[in-house]
Amino acid sequence: MALDYSFSQEHESFRAFVRGFAREGIQPYVVECDEKERFPVEAIRHMGKAGLLGIIAPKRLGGMEGDYIMLGIAVEEIARVDNSCAMICSMQNTLPNLVPGWGEEAARGVISGERLVCIATSETEAGSDLSNMSTIACVEDGHFVINGEKIHVSLMPGAALMGVTAKVQQPDGSSRITFIRVPADAPGVSCELMPEMGLRSHQLGIVRLKDVRVPVEHTLGGEGQGKAVLYARWNVSRCLSALNALGAAQQVLDDTIEFVKKKEVYGKAIGHYQAISFPLVEHSTRVEAGRMLAYRGLWMNTRGENAARIAGMAKWSGITDSIAAIQDCLQMFGASGYLKALPLERRLRDVLGLTFTGGTINVMKLTVVKELLGASFMDISG
Ligand SMILES: Cc1cc2nc3c(=O)[nH]c(=O)nc-3n(C[C@H](O)[C@H](O)[C@H](O)COP(=O)(O)OP(=O)(O)OC[C@H]3O[C@@H](n4cnc5c(N)ncnc54)[C@H](O)[C@@H]3O)c2cc1C
Repeated sequence: MALDYSFSQEHESFRAFVRGFAREGIQPYVVECDEKERFPVEAIRHMGKAGLLGIIAPKRLGGMEGDYIMLGIAVEEIARVDNSCAMICSMQNTLPNLVPGWGEEAARGVISGERLVCIATSETEAGSDLSNMSTIACVEDGHFVINGEKIHVSLMPGAALMGVTAKVQQPDGSSRITFIRVPADAPGVSCELMPEMGLRSHQLGIVRLKDVRVPVEHTLGGEGQGKAVLYARWNVSRCLSALNALGAAQQVLDDTIEFVKKKEVYGKAIGHYQAISFPLVEHSTRVEAGRMLAYRGLWMNTRGENAARIAGMAKWSGITDSIAAIQDCLQMFGASGYLKALPLERRLRDVLGLTFTGGTINVMKLTVVKELLGASFMDISG
């Protein structure tokens, strides 16, 4: 009996634990952090204390040493309450554990919720096309001297350590993209908040680097390995992004189903109208299918299989289907759904933000094109 769609008893217990935790440890801060566009420091500490920032981290560092399915469950359940915290949980689990070179001190800080790590790769002319970056690092006296400007950096300001991609100049005039570990408070680093539409408490920043010096040993994954290091995490993080969106969509669907059973218009509950009940069936089906795809991707990662195709499909469909579900549910609440008093408008804004993180929806389709048709059909030659 090889095919088994059930979660284990441990996974189900863990889901029940995270669902309860998210309501108590995260929910109280969500509205205020969104309105004030402030970092959810209290929720992050609570996640650390509950072990949710070290789900896949080794036990010797204080982690749970769980599997990717557990991590998916945590992200999905936290996302029922808040997408920013779900994204923080996803990043803090995957960055220190799937990207080498942060060091044990940083890993312990992340697991406890006292320090965060982030990655700064995007630039004005290098978003999808990472290779077009302008940030450079010259080697002087055993140090990288980094100059450049990164944009759209999640958790900045806020994170303690950044993984910064830079082109390291070679003696023959060529350059190699390298991930360099840079403390956020290093001399020459400055940061400015970029106000955003959704995911407002996760904070998005511009990071400027002016003659920032760090020892040449401080690479993540070694010199010239920047792209490989970045790609190594994607097959997991893309499934988690899908579950982040799908968790929000499932909670909105659950709330909407309760609402349409009670809300009366023209003398009966609107759930009796098929123009209401049929879309709820369609969205519930798509969300269920999206979850299966995302968990399959995580399961493949757990087994060491290449999940690039499934992860690309999961992220593209999971996020776009979640946006469609939340948008239709918002409509079913009438004008109330559009107001700030209910969470629907925030959920919609937040899930829209997920369409860009770790590659846009079109870029997800390109990764699937590569798997289905072959790399030469990706059309990214410019
Ligand atoms: C909430 C949020 C969090 C983020 N977090 C981080 C972070 O932590 N670190 C970081 O470095 N960056 C981060 N980013 C940036 C993100 O990685 C980029 O937004 C993304 O890679 C796309 O780059 P871009 O926005 O510059 O769009 P561009 O690359 O300029 O693309 C513009 C449009 O063209 C489309 N497009 C591009 N190429 C093709 C093609 N070949 N075929 C079809 N369509 C194409 C894109 O899909 C997009 O719609 C974040 C962004 C957001 C919104």
